[in-house]
Amino acid sequence: MAPSEQVFENYKHHGVSVWVRTDLRGQHREYCLCYHCEYFHPEDRERNCRIANALFAMDQLCEITTPVWECQSFVLSLGKENPDG
Ligand code: SF4
Repeated sequence: MAPSEQVFENYKHHGVSVWVRTDLRGQHREYCLCYHCEYFHPEDRERNCRIANALFAMDQLCEITTPVWECQSFVLSLGKENPDG
């Protein structure tokens, strides 16, 4: 999509007003490597990947959403092929 065709919107995410590209709103899980990775345990921060924990801390601090596009430590988890399932 060309930059001139992109549309942005403002909405409440966890009670905070944030901006997002409209076509990508709510899509971060579909693109983030973590949701398919052996090391991702967001429900158990003690076992969770240190990179993911660091990103989560920054996300909370800055009220941002940061999907991981590339990661040298990624290991495919066959049990997470459908992260929303
Ligand atoms: S190793 Fe990389 S892809 Fe896996 S959970 Fe950590 S940051 Fe995400």
